[in-house]
Amino acid sequence: ATPTALMVGSGLGAEKGILIRRGEAIQLMKEAQVIVFDKTGTITKGKPEVTDIISINIDEQKLLTYALSVEKNSEHPIAKAIVEAAEKRKILPLPVENFTSITGKGVEGYIENMRILAGNRKMMLDNRVEIGDYEEKIVNLEHQGKTVIMVATEGNLLGIIAVADTIKEDSLQGISELKKMGIKTYMITGDNWRTAEAIAKEVGITEVLADVLPEGKVEKIKELQSQGFKVAMVGDGINDAPALTQSDVGIAIGTGTDIAIEAADITIVRGNLTAVVSAVKLSKAIFSKIK
Ligand code: ADP
Ligand code: MG
Repeated sequence: ATPTALMVGSGLGAEKGILIRRGEAIQLMKEAQVIVFDKTGTITKGKPEVTDIISINIDEQKLLTYALSVEKNSEHPIAKAIVEAAEKRKILPLPVENFTSITGKGVEGYIENMRILAGNRKMMLDNRVEIGDYEEKIVNLEHQGKTVIMVATEGNLLGIIAVADTIKEDSLQGISELKKMGIKTYMITGDNWRTAEAIAKEVGITEVLADVLPEGKVEKIKELQSQGFKVAMVGDGINDAPALTQSDVGIAIGTGTDIAIEAADITIVRGNLTAVVSAVKLSKAIFSKIK
């Protein structure tokens, strides 16, 4: 397209809340056969809230004290939800030593000389924490689209905290319009597959890539590209940045992290998925008129 067409296109895009950082990307957008969406903060609002607290062998107050104390040191949205729930109940944190954050798994630290872990199944498996009778309860929560965090100390489960995130108002509409245009939609997440599938079902996505560690997101994009697809990726997190760079068109959520925005070619200012539909339409409009 001519520079003029691109300029007009950029202007039209800006009106719709689509910021184009790389002209070539908006040209490629109309050719995207696959669009991969991150879950948390992209399809969902990314502001989870605590929905269930199950304490095991200790009282709820103590469970929340431990969870608050370790999670206070984490920036993850799940951590923020737990901190907020504990603070709402006027729980006070205890000092934590040797805090460690394990990407895609959880956090840990020493409280009163006890090693406290808060994280997902992978984290519990790595530390040989027995889940035993609680497996069914956890599975049940995951089927409801909730993310389950287990709190434990040296091999012993102390409790379960479930958080739930809300799906953005227009995620279902955005996905359904893309499907009508013949575009294949995927969801990719570090969350477990049961929770991911529950959320995917609500927005009409059938291809789910779950339990993906941050470095795995890039590999999945490469895999789709090696199958011959032009791939667009939509994400908001630091975790998504390498995948946004790898994809043919990287689309960042404007309300997301700066790192994702810098890695992307296009920014969806308000973060609504119908803007992705507008981006495809805009690309077609600019590049069909001018040859
Ligand atoms: P995503 O942004 O796709 O959900 P992440 O890699 O950020 O992926 O997180 C993957 C999973 O790791 C979370 O669903 C959660 O189970 C676990 N996790 C990450 N950070 C924490 C934390 N601070 N506390 C507990 N669990 C965590
Ligand atoms: Mg995210």
